[in-house]
Amino acid sequence: MADYYDILGVPRDAGPEAIKKAYRKLAMKYHPDRNSGSDEAEARFKELSEAYEVLKDPEKRAMYDRFGKAGTKSGGAGGPFQGGFDLHDAIEIFMRDFGGGGGFEEVFGGQGRGGRGRRRSRTRKGENTRVRIPLTLQEVASGVTKRVRVALLDPCEACEGTGSAEGEAGGTCSTCGGRGEERVAQRSVFGQFVSVTTCRSCGGEGSVVRDPCRSCKGEGRTRREREVEVEIPRGVSSENFISLRGKGNVGPRGGPRGDILVLLEIEDDPRFVREGNDLVTDVLVTFSQAALGAEVEVPTVEGSRTLEVPPGIQSGQAIRFRGGGLPDLNGGAQGDLIGRIRVWTPTELTPEQETLFQSLREEEDPVPDSVAEAGGERRGFWSRVREAFTSG
Ligand SMILES: [Zn+2]
Ligand SMILES: [Zn+2]
Repeated sequence: MADYYDILGVPRDAGPEAIKKAYRKLAMKYHPDRNSGSDEAEARFKELSEAYEVLKDPEKRAMYDRFGKAGTKSGGAGGPFQGGFDLHDAIEIFMRDFGGGGGFEEVFGGQGRGGRGRRRSRTRKGENTRVRIPLTLQEVASGVTKRVRVALLDPCEACEGTGSAEGEAGGTCSTCGGRGEERVAQRSVFGQFVSVTTCRSCGGEGSVVRDPCRSCKGEGRTRREREVEVEIPRGVSSENFISLRGKGNVGPRGGPRGDILVLLEIEDDPRFVREGNDLVTDVLVTFSQAALGAEVEVPTVEGSRTLEVPPGIQSGQAIRFRGGGLPDLNGGAQGDLIGRIRVWTPTELTPEQETLFQSLREEEDPVPDSVAEAGGERRGFWSRVREAFTSG
């Protein structure tokens, strides 16, 4: 097992900010949403989240530094990874610290996990399911409630979810005697040790179905199309998830429902480039508009607005509308609308226009020696915008 510091690629004396930054960068790269279900990326994402969850907490980190992974598992009721650390936990951690939208529940103290600590659950939770929701920029700006169809496993009606033909609970599993676990003595170079694993015969349920239900073959659940309502807050991006806890597949034979993970896919809008909460749009102006100043219409997410172009504006200069961008997911300041000026050169001239340009040429001043001298171009502006975005 790799070292948590190595997993995140940070030195052992890294500060909390460096750890957070390293995790964010790598987690974005290996995010399951960006790797179309690659098992390798999923494993990396889990590994990263686990490492981050320990190293970000000064107490857990100190325990880890002294005792290694064993130190982080002995935290009693509050121990972080009781019952395993799965993709869902990883996604929740990511959402909690970077996602907004969702991830509001307490990650380790929530229901399900706490229950598991007190008493071994006989039923298995249903598998989490994922659903993708495409969103337009307008929907991101306003927030929206979406209804989506999801194929989910529901309790079988014929056997009322028990899996037995007679509708009764199954008999005690003979392999594990109803405990749901198997104890296997194993020999290693360190001596003999006993490992406890989930019973293979009953999958940990402690009981087996003697006369399986015909309609679900003893599973206790059948697939059905369901309509699910998802409330999407304002200002989300493709990096956000929404987790619908306990709304997913039921577990086999009466197991609790898993979760639905809603992945958001913001559709490209050809009019805008999104930079965080800011929207950048190209604004074409003519020579004379750039020289004399003008009022031009620019698109906004909801419609359009008038942009005051000052006389003497240069190609490449930007005009910023405060608050004309997208709302902030976490309730911060609304983004801006940024109009990037591009002077349009006509490709065909009427004889009349040609005459006018000819006489303008006789009158106009020569161009300055450099773009910097022209005064308009704010060099490095776009790279600064990008920097601000990527380091945010
Ligand atoms: Zn059934
Ligand atoms: Zn068993």
